[in-house]
Formats: sequence, structure tokens, C-alpha cells
Amino acid sequence: MSPSKNNLWHQNARASLKEANSCNEFFQTDVFENQSFPIKIPLEFANLIDKDNPNDPLLRQVISSKSKLKDPEFSLSPLEDDRHSPVSGLIHKYPNRVLLIASRVCAIHCQYCFRQNFDYQQHDAISNWIQVENYIINNSQINEVILSGGDPLSLSDDKLELLIGNIEKIKHIKTLRIHSRSAVVTPSRITDKLADILNNSKLSVVLVLHTNHMRELSEQFASVVNKLDGITLLNQSVLLKGVNDSLESLSTLSLRLFSLGILPYYLHLLDKVSGTEHFLVSDKRAKQLHKELKANLSGYLVPKLVRDKNTESKVWL
Ligand code: SF4
Repeated sequence: MSPSKNNLWHQNARASLKEANSCNEFFQTDVFENQSFPIKIPLEFANLIDKDNPNDPLLRQVISSKSKLKDPEFSLSPLEDDRHSPVSGLIHKYPNRVLLIASRVCAIHCQYCFRQNFDYQQHDAISNWIQVENYIINNSQINEVILSGGDPLSLSDDKLELLIGNIEKIKHIKTLRIHSRSAVVTPSRITDKLADILNNSKLSVVLVLHTNHMRELSEQFASVVNKLDGITLLNQSVLLKGVNDSLESLSTLSLRLFSLGILPYYLHLLDKVSGTEHFLVSDKRAKQLHKELKANLSGYLVPKLVRDKNTESKVWL
């Protein structure tokens, strides 16, 4: 029996590339190695990669072999999430908003990820929901809940509906923000049911996508993103050497995002996680690129250049 449109993404997730040999065979290369941060590449993303280009910017993001460069500034966990976590699964840094770790699962494993060594067992907002809910209820200055992970859109539509319904019941919450990469790398995730849940929420919903390169915004994505016409769409990127560290790459990304109704929001400097040294763009180069972007694009197309200090804590450059 063929899967319904609402369930196709589950089937696509199961078909993701997850092992070095199959990746090396698929991409006709030998650069993949099995590592502690496992490989995961959805076929919808893998099929966008130019197999004839060993430096393809999409391929570079998922190659699992770690950097041979060793820099003492890089550590297993550069962000101190625990210091701002009053209850498991919830991070509270700024008075008006909290971030929930809603899922440990991602549609893709980005090899520059700052959470690749994160202890998700200690941070699970769903299994600790009663405590999380009580914390939010007892802190009436909180008006925004951010769903993060992992990727919150790796939850099923039914689980997401239940979670959002529970958040909507808390009277002082007005805004729901969702951080997701899966909507871009697996466009089949944007189901009709998901669109209904988000478009018809009582809350103001902001979906912050994570896209690093214009080619990730495929025709398939373009054909489904317009279902999300009742919410605000923003994008955040990570500035990555060999992926998007040029004026042309960043400009075309901003223009493509805007043509799809998505505003560029943040351009993050790399979080210094061990093994990701080869992705680092220096501060000096990052500031130069940002200056060139400002000179070449309208202001609303220029993302803010930021460095994460802690989860939900940013320094503008
Ligand atoms: S989707 Fe986000 S959390 Fe998941 S691996 Fe990529 S960067 Fe990390």
C-alpha cells in the first residue's frame, strides 16, 4: 500500500543514508567514515548533491570524516546549556522566552552541529512535560515558547498538535517559535496536516528554517512552502568555509529565500565543536563578507551576523 501524503516523510526518513559504505557508494567517493556522530542524509537532500563535484557545498556539510586540524579552542560542547536549565528539557535565558528541547531526532546530521555531543537524555521537554508546563505557568513574564532540538518537526503531526495544544492553553503565551532544518532538507515533511496545525494555531507562529546554501531550496521545497501561508517564515544560516563563505553564495541565498517569502534572520559564526575546525571562517573574513552583503543587498535581505554565547544568547558583530 502506498503511504498517504501525510506519512510519506516517515518513509523518506527511514530511507536516509546512514552508514559510511552506503554513502561512499552513493556519492562515488571514499571520504565518509563511521564516527561517533552518526551519518544521516535524507535522500531528498542527497539527490541535490552534484556527485561529480567533491567540493559540492551540500556534500561538505554531511561528510562525516572529522577535521585533522586540531585547535585547543574547539571543545566537545562549546555552549553551556545546563547553566540555564531550571528544569530538564527547558532552557531559560531571557525573561520573556523559554526554549524547549522537543526532540532528539534530526532529519539530517549536519557535521558542524553544535549539539552533536549533547546529552538529550537529560534534556527532554516531552517526557518531562508536567514540570516544564508548571515552570512556564509559574513564570507569567514568559510570552514566547521556542521549540528546538534536535528538530521539533521530527515529531509526528499528532504529537506536535498535542504539544502545541498544551502550549496554547497557557494564557500568557502569545508566540510559538519553531527552529527546524527538516522542512528544508525533507520538503515532504511539510504535510497538509502540519500546515493546518501551524496556520490555524491560536498563537502567532514563527518558523525559523535553517538553510545554508541556495541549492538547498529545491523546486520540491518551493512547491510546498507556500502551504505555510498563515505564519511568519525566517531563516538562519551558519557561515561555513567551503559552503557559503562568499558574497555570491550568501547573496543568492538571501534572494532565493526572499523569492519564497522567507526573510534572512541570522548568520551564525561557527560554534567551536571539536572536529569541525575545517568549517571555521575567521571573524575578520566574516565581518568583511557581512559588510559586502550590506553594500550589495537591501537591508531586509541582510541577516544579522551573530555568535552564540549560550543557547538563545547571541552577540551581534
Ligand atoms: S538539524 Fe540542527 S540540531 Fe540537527 S544536526 Fe543539523 S544543526 Fe544539529
